[in-house]
Amino acid sequence: MRRSDEDDRALVEAARAGDRHARDRLVAAYLPLVYNVVGRALDGHADVDDVVQETMLRCLRALWDLRDPGRFRAWLVAIAVRQVRERHRHRATAATQIGDRADDLADPGADFADLTVLRLELTGQRREVADATRWLDSDHRELLALWWLEAAGELSRDDLALSLGLGHEHAAVRVQRMRAQLDAARVVVRALNAAPRCAGLAAVAAGWDGRPDPLWRKRFARHTRTCGECAGAWGSLVAADRLLVGLALVPVPVALLGPAVTATAPAPAGAAKTGALVMGKPALAAVGTVVAVATATVVYAVLGGGGPPAVPAAAPVTSAPAVVPLVSSAPRPSRAPRPAPSTTRPKPKPPAVATSARKGVSTWEFGPIPAGLKAVGASWYYNWSPTNASMPGPSGVEFVPMIWGADAVTDRTLATAKAEGDVLLGFNEPDLGEQANLTVERALELWPRLEATGMRLGSPAVAWGGADAGGWLDRFMTGARERGHRVDFIALHWYGADFSAAAVGHLRGYLRAVHERYGLPIWLTEFALIRFEGGTTYPSDAQQSAFVTGATRMLGSLSFVERYAWFGLPSTGDSGTGLYRADGTLTAAGRAYRAAR
Ligand SMILES: [Zn+2]
Repeated sequence: MRRSDEDDRALVEAARAGDRHARDRLVAAYLPLVYNVVGRALDGHADVDDVVQETMLRCLRALWDLRDPGRFRAWLVAIAVRQVRERHRHRATAATQIGDRADDLADPGADFADLTVLRLELTGQRREVADATRWLDSDHRELLALWWLEAAGELSRDDLALSLGLGHEHAAVRVQRMRAQLDAARVVVRALNAAPRCAGLAAVAAGWDGRPDPLWRKRFARHTRTCGECAGAWGSLVAADRLLVGLALVPVPVALLGPAVTATAPAPAGAAKTGALVMGKPALAAVGTVVAVATATVVYAVLGGGGPPAVPAAAPVTSAPAVVPLVSSAPRPSRAPRPAPSTTRPKPKPPAVATSARKGVSTWEFGPIPAGLKAVGASWYYNWSPTNASMPGPSGVEFVPMIWGADAVTDRTLATAKAEGDVLLGFNEPDLGEQANLTVERALELWPRLEATGMRLGSPAVAWGGADAGGWLDRFMTGARERGHRVDFIALHWYGADFSAAAVGHLRGYLRAVHERYGLPIWLTEFALIRFEGGTTYPSDAQQSAFVTGATRMLGSLSFVERYAWFGLPSTGDSGTGLYRADGTLTAAGRAYRAAR
């Protein structure tokens, strides 16, 4: 049964005040939840215990960063998600280095689907759902972990969206896609388990090694849709969330409930970030900037578990994110522009912060949005949604609404967007399956609804290939012209995988090519240096800062670039390109962006 937010608030406040029993209780109350998130997200990989431990450690160290103690659950889950992603990144790197396949590191004895079936004694369709989770695309796995807990009643949809750093609509779209895939996987599980197995399916399975994987899921699912014998498996699927209602958490294994551990954690004092941690015998010096104030010795019987304690990753541990953004797979949404004065504002005497009417940021929810917008000198911002109700900015900084995808094309959402401003950003990355995922035809069909708002309209923002003849954007713009649809400017995203000084030139070349093709002003609504191949890689601080400086200078010199928005404002969780930390300080990239005008 889910604890109430008010119980959490009291416990967190007591823990912050130095009450060690409160800390113990907080850990005890939430260890099962964290274990279920991490276990399912990593599918029982051998690293699960380490990741759970790191998550709890970071949580305790960062308790003072939590803005609203009533949101403890979502905040903690966000940390867990970040640690899971961190682990993926390390694994991807390790796999490349040793020329190994990442999945070879999996621990077959700890398969979380098996654990779920065995420990919860699942049968029938519930068991099929658990078995089906092995067949999902890996990028659905962490969402599955959170959604499972939502279905079971342990997390709210708010918690889920916040933990992933997504708006509600975006979260809904992702859940819907994941569930469609899960249903296909359930049918595959059922068809493969049928006795006797359909001969046609057996033929398809001839070259299969017996291990669940996404490619084989697609092959088998395709067969079940067209085979008279297997198609019946689609008929009687009970909605997965109904099957999981009230389902218990998988119990925490004994290994995670080891001997008592002594930890020294920061005691109350507003800005305290990180304290030294002592677990068992070996002293673990926590890394990062330490502003430790008084330290309180805390005993909690949770971490440890024999052997050398897991040392938190040596990355800076300065703070935990209020909300973890999703940066790991593909670029995010973009937004739309408004008539922007394309002149830069002269800066008075020695202003601490440079501003420009062009300069903006994208942001997702995190504590200090207004302060962050001011700190980097942004004139405008957007959040991939039609409203900033949950993320208000300071006065004088314009919010630009977006119609993210097809689901947002409703009278109500369009009216909401219209009430927010006079410029509207069109669909976000319609060319990506995990983003707005629209065919050109569908987008053209919906476009008149956006036009009808009377707002200035930015094109759908493609993830790439904006200048390619026959690419998504080219076909959309051609179709729009033929049908007499209005597009006032082009919105674009760009991520540089070349971290050298050449990056600025690459971006300039792309913008010019797009401008030449369509002859419209451009809003660059997402940009940064990030490499997405083989896991997400970020440049060094020095490289990113140099890019910020060079790119903003270049953008300021192109008359057809009306606006630009860095990806993104928050530096929380695994957002490796953020400008502003939850503790109110600028990152290196943030300092560079602040100087841009
Ligand atoms: Zn069949």
